[in-house]
Amino acid sequence: MAGGGRLNKTPCKKAREMADLELFRRALPGTRAYFPVLLITLVGMQLPWDRPALLGIFLPLWLWGGLSRYLMSHQALRRYHENPNLWRTRFRSSILLTPLVWGLFGATTVVLSGLQWDVAFCVVIAAGLGAGAAAALNPDLRLRRAYPLTLQLPMIAALLSLGRSGLGIALLSSVYMIYLIRLGEGMGRRYWSQLGDRLFVEQLSQLTLALVGNLSQGEVLTRLSDHLQCLLEFERSRAVSADGEVLMERDYAPLSGSIHSVQVAVGPITFFLESGQPFDEEDRQVLQTFTHPAATALDRNRLFEEVGRLALTDELTRVSNRRHFLQRANELVQTTTRLDQKSGARTPVCVILLDVDHFKKVNDTHGHDVGDRVLREVARRCQAALREVDLLARYGGEEFSALLPGANGTEGAMVAEDRLRRSVADHPFEGPEGPLRVTISLGVAQFCGDLTETLKRADQALYQAKSDGRNCVRQG
Ligand code: GH3
Ligand code: MG
Ligand code: MG
Repeated sequence: MAGGGRLNKTPCKKAREMADLELFRRALPGTRAYFPVLLITLVGMQLPWDRPALLGIFLPLWLWGGLSRYLMSHQALRRYHENPNLWRTRFRSSILLTPLVWGLFGATTVVLSGLQWDVAFCVVIAAGLGAGAAAALNPDLRLRRAYPLTLQLPMIAALLSLGRSGLGIALLSSVYMIYLIRLGEGMGRRYWSQLGDRLFVEQLSQLTLALVGNLSQGEVLTRLSDHLQCLLEFERSRAVSADGEVLMERDYAPLSGSIHSVQVAVGPITFFLESGQPFDEEDRQVLQTFTHPAATALDRNRLFEEVGRLALTDELTRVSNRRHFLQRANELVQTTTRLDQKSGARTPVCVILLDVDHFKKVNDTHGHDVGDRVLREVARRCQAALREVDLLARYGGEEFSALLPGANGTEGAMVAEDRLRRSVADHPFEGPEGPLRVTISLGVAQFCGDLTETLKRADQALYQAKSDGRNCVRQG
């Protein structure tokens, strides 16, 4: 389909709500998991017998933390619709606070007891709770895979460090963790299949931007399932052509069976799609329908940026070119004139023109390549000597110009003498042909209300500097 698409972005509350509820629901088995892990670890480490005092502090706190998280998730799940913002905030704070509280408690215990057993124990607790919170917060396939790495490995390492007594318990914990991971994956699969969609886009916001930005420029998306529209935050019915034709069709059946995933790169953006069936030719076409225009839009933006940059940059020295210099100078003139009229004061602006001395000789003696290198080095040194607000440009051949906002003639002359002239003349230019002495002459003029006139005065000052023996600064 072709034609001018019109697309209104409408936030889809439902998708967000369902994601929140899924988080609360997922937190329940996550929290339940803490208790068996605790028991297995405690008994495996023989802590109840070895350290009864420590246990007296740990166990009630752990029970209190776990129970309050569990009840919070329950409440959030039941009462979310009454006040979504309140329950989302409470729930997320509880998740974030849990590893913090346990981390602090664990660290205190380590410091107070100084026992290796306790160190190992705290590693298990901190890693387990941190990873559990991260996994519960983000229904993301990759995080579910990171879960065993962050939770299980430190735990096994800690248990194995105990020697033979920890081996059995390490195995038991591994089996238990694998069960939890599978449980999480099953929940994830059910969640997405209940939503009745074959596609799950992870990096929604960027893709939405790319798609919406692109569609509004006249491209058309012909197929998009209801849920994907929800996730991407726009409605199919709103995507109509100029003559009222609906541009998107709905045609997807609900998910069933196992999950297949595919990674799609659109320019610098990578996103992941999950599907209940293997991706076939038709799916590929659907993907292309929205990835191709998005990629084109991104490419086009990059191209515009590149062309814009090239149009204002000097290819050899990479500083601004004459066009950019004049453009910026004119803009500055207009801005300061307007501000000056308001305030009644006069904002100084200074222009410096500089020219490499006897540059023809450099070219004649050492060749054009060395000449080019000298120009690049002069530009680099001058750029480094100026402030960030100043603008350095290659004005032509071996002549450069600098624009110094906020500097009057005297200050400009000081900058020209102390920073620019010296940065070039004081150190020889190193190259394969040996050190090369290069100097520059400079003409300085304070802006007088007319840019052409100011540049003329700077040029006359530069001419004067040349006549006075070069390697010096003159003010016009
Ligand atoms: P003065 O001290 O009076 O400025 O002497 P000069 O030799 O520097 O002045 P002149 O204007 O006679 O020579 C400028 C030379 O700069 C001539 C030209 O070939 C050379 N030139 C201009 N642009 C480039 C360039 O991009 N690369 C190189 N290598 N040389 C360039
Ligand atoms: Mg010259
Ligand atoms: Mg010249």
